[in-house]
Amino acid sequence: MLPTTPLSILLKTTKPKLKKLESIGIKSLQDLLLYFPRTYIDLSKTYKINEVITNQFTNVKGLLSQLQTSRSKFGKALIKAKLNDETGSIDLIWFNQPYLQKILKNGQQIILTGKVNFEFGRMTMQSPQIESAQDNPLHSGRIIPIYHETFGLNSKWIREKIHPLLKYSKTIFPEYLPENILKEQELMSYAQAIYEVHFPQTLKTLEKAKRRLGFDELFLIQLGALQKKWHWQNINEHEQKTMVIHEALSEFEKTLPFALTSAQRRSLDEILNDQQKTYPMSRLLQGDVGSGKTVVAGIALLNTIKNGYQGAIMAPTEILARQHYHTLFKLFKDLNINLKFMAGSTKKSEKTAIMNELKNGLVDIIIGTHALIQQGVTFKNLGLAVIDEQHRFGVKQRDILKSQGSPHLLSLSATPIPRTLALTIYGDQDLSIIDELPSGREPIITRLVPENKRSDAYRWIEDKVKKGRQAFVICPLIDESDTLELKSVIKEFEYLQTNVFPELKIGLLHGKMKAADKEAIMQEFKENKTNILVSTSVIEVGIDIPNAVIMMIEGAERFGLSQLHQFRGRVGRSTHQSYCFLFMQKYSQTAATRLRAMVDHTSGFKLSEIDLEIRGPGHVYGIRQSGIPDLKMASLTDSITISKARNAAEKIITNDPDLKNLPYLAQKLQEIGEVYVGD
Ligand code: ADP
Ligand code: MG
Repeated sequence: MLPTTPLSILLKTTKPKLKKLESIGIKSLQDLLLYFPRTYIDLSKTYKINEVITNQFTNVKGLLSQLQTSRSKFGKALIKAKLNDETGSIDLIWFNQPYLQKILKNGQQIILTGKVNFEFGRMTMQSPQIESAQDNPLHSGRIIPIYHETFGLNSKWIREKIHPLLKYSKTIFPEYLPENILKEQELMSYAQAIYEVHFPQTLKTLEKAKRRLGFDELFLIQLGALQKKWHWQNINEHEQKTMVIHEALSEFEKTLPFALTSAQRRSLDEILNDQQKTYPMSRLLQGDVGSGKTVVAGIALLNTIKNGYQGAIMAPTEILARQHYHTLFKLFKDLNINLKFMAGSTKKSEKTAIMNELKNGLVDIIIGTHALIQQGVTFKNLGLAVIDEQHRFGVKQRDILKSQGSPHLLSLSATPIPRTLALTIYGDQDLSIIDELPSGREPIITRLVPENKRSDAYRWIEDKVKKGRQAFVICPLIDESDTLELKSVIKEFEYLQTNVFPELKIGLLHGKMKAADKEAIMQEFKENKTNILVSTSVIEVGIDIPNAVIMMIEGAERFGLSQLHQFRGRVGRSTHQSYCFLFMQKYSQTAATRLRAMVDHTSGFKLSEIDLEIRGPGHVYGIRQSGIPDLKMASLTDSITISKARNAAEKIITNDPDLKNLPYLAQKLQEIGEVYVGD
């Protein structure tokens, strides 16, 4: 028997059923046995009638009496009876199951499975399942598996099909974990875990089976990631020699208007340390919004070009890329560094010119969007590639940059997820964390503003603007191509300009605008030529305008926690006290919980924990895009198992990176697609 043996050969069933199975991705023996139950009902114990807990699946044993068959007014069979034991009696009723007339007999001892309810003061069971005590029951008298049911495939049917095939588990699911890991982690064998997860002997063995399968999921993801990193660092000969040019760097630091925080310093040291290695860096720099990642990346880039190599920054949006360009331009203005900007909107002739300069090594640092990884872009000697907001890029896009002569790779992320989670999702990278904000920043004051306080909020904004500060107003436009909603954003903008702030200058920014217009609007706001910027969520990423101190968010219930936190991170970027005002258009309990969390917490790490609790890890920002497979058994919040699995994976990669001695493991890794694929 092979794992891939088609079910059409193995199952006695109809074509439509096979089609149904196929529609949920089940074609082969292996597919079916890896279709795990959604939950279980413990029917291992049989209850006396007076012990029964109502409204819950149970087994009751007793004697049948008072059997009677009649017809409903629609002509359907109606069977009624009573179940008795020494402790009481239950009314029974079955609808439309005429064949039961032949099975049921008065005076018969039977076990019934179902829910007992109270109706008209009597205990009643509707259409319970019937088991005779003799056979080895699949559906009762044990812990029974409940599967995700689709029309035409119910749990009972699935159970009956899976059970006889489980005898093949040992052959088709050979153990792929090495003996020592099984021992250390006290794990049951793979085949046994698969048997147990379908038909557990006890709740304890079920727990053990789930633990084994959950461990495997976290282990395999991390093993794949570590293997990928190993190849990236060992196969790719890194011929470049980057030294740390201390003098130049400290000269440069003296020109900064601030001193680095100790978290910035520590992260920078980790990066510079990586740069001196003979293999390429693969590092993720994580830090809350406003923690100052850009300057750290900037110094690393400076070190790169001081060593005679080129640098690149790729950002997910044109606005953000331009901002980086301006920031670096200012930072490096006295250093005679050739910076270039390239994005989708760059003219073709200009692009061609830039690409030529890049190839000839005339450009020191290129800053841009996806345009940097389009065809035809080649570097003379790319030494460091920085990817901002890395979760917005796919693995492939990162790989294209990596293929430009194996540069050091530094990713930046403001998604503040717990460390263990980051290690799982971004397991092919080392991690540096900036866990403090620059000093002198006052925590942003956040308020959930009721509608009747709206005009107070407007007066507050006016007052701050008159003192020279600026404000954002975010309007929810989730789908930038939604013309109706766009109209309402434009209306809001006009309303604010004419009715609320007639004396102030207001700008408008939305996704439908041309890149050049967006840029002009941002520039005006940056130069404080506009006082208030009304924007849709295009403002989201990275925008840095320290003079803005108020973030007002309309329809805040429509945004997720991490997005709200990102918005709020647009203010509080200077020593001025900043504020965030949240307005709710439509009340809901979950939205209120979310917004309350915003009011109570300013730390992105804390908020991401809350987000994980509310929504589960599958939905949390950045995880979807990270490309890791859906987890059936494990939880991404289970940091203990994540660490154990990572340690185990690290040991294996250190000793046997290509899994030469672990062929089953190599095969498993390949199956789930988490394997290093050479160029
Ligand atoms: P993010 O980490 O969100 O990308 P930025 O790099 O945009 O943050 O930095 C946010 C702001 O903080 C910028 O205006 C930057 O100049 C400033 N900044 C960075 N580091 C420091 C520091 N050590 N002290 C004071 N301000 C800093
Ligand atoms: Mg940033």
